[in-house]
Amino acid sequence: MLTSKAALITGSTSGIGLAIAQALAANGCNIVLNGLGDPTAIEQTRSHMAREYGVSVFYHGADLSQSDEIEAMMAYAEDQLGGIDILVNNAGIQHVALTEDFPVEKWNAIIAINMNSNFHTTRLALPGMKRKNWGRIINIASAHGLVGSAQKSAYVTAKHGVVGFTKVTGLETAKTGITVNAICPGWVRTELVEKQIAARATADNISVEAAATSLLVEKQPSLQFVTPAALADTALFLCGSSADQITGTTISMDGGWTAQ
Ligand code: NAD
Repeated sequence: MLTSKAALITGSTSGIGLAIAQALAANGCNIVLNGLGDPTAIEQTRSHMAREYGVSVFYHGADLSQSDEIEAMMAYAEDQLGGIDILVNNAGIQHVALTEDFPVEKWNAIIAINMNSNFHTTRLALPGMKRKNWGRIINIASAHGLVGSAQKSAYVTAKHGVVGFTKVTGLETAKTGITVNAICPGWVRTELVEKQIAARATADNISVEAAATSLLVEKQPSLQFVTPAALADTALFLCGSSADQITGTTISMDGGWTAQ
């Protein structure tokens, strides 16, 4: 159990981030949720999580492309929970296009949200973690933090950056009770991937299920999607004492994608 630890999970209004937030709450953490979405649905998620698990659950709607909004979110977490023990950098977006066609504003947004936000949350969380001599930073990178794919220049660049940042911050905290690691998922069937499945179904004039299978065939030898719940279990493991000596590294959960 992680009773009374304070956890902030970016991009936790859906998908992988929401599953990790639920798992941490179920294990006794007080939570700060973050992410975009319909305010009523977000409030339902927040209040349901608090009731279901008997923990405090807060929400901050910082747009992670803006460093001043990240600073406000971190100050809010400090005010509500006295700092952050577990930081999960999970928020992310995708855009698919050839490099010469890549919209500059999409490039900038992906680099800001998928990579730069990890720097800002981490730099602001580390002083408090160092004071307590305990902390966990879990960066949700990707198989694309380790290998490339055509038409994903911004995403692959950002995720490789996250893996590099994980190594450096793992080294910088190695003599403390803080660990920093990246989880590198392959395909997970969340909103982010449903958009790519739908685009493929339209482009190839095939059904959504056929498009989902074709994504797996192309990259993921297990031919199965990774589940948010399995990723949440790995995040929980990284928070436990058995993982004290795991730091500055990546854990692939990709059905064999990066073994090829
Ligand atoms: P998702 O679209 O379900 O969730 C993304 C979350 O990020 C949402 O809560 C969204 O509101 C939030 N978000 C987006 N832009 C934001 C912004 N500007 N400010 C604050 N929050 C913002 O997608 P997901 O698949 O759960 O993705 C979570 C993470 O996992 C991402 O970093 C993604 O790159 C990574 N990932 C996903 C897969 C996959 O196959 N789904 C594979 C590897 C890595």
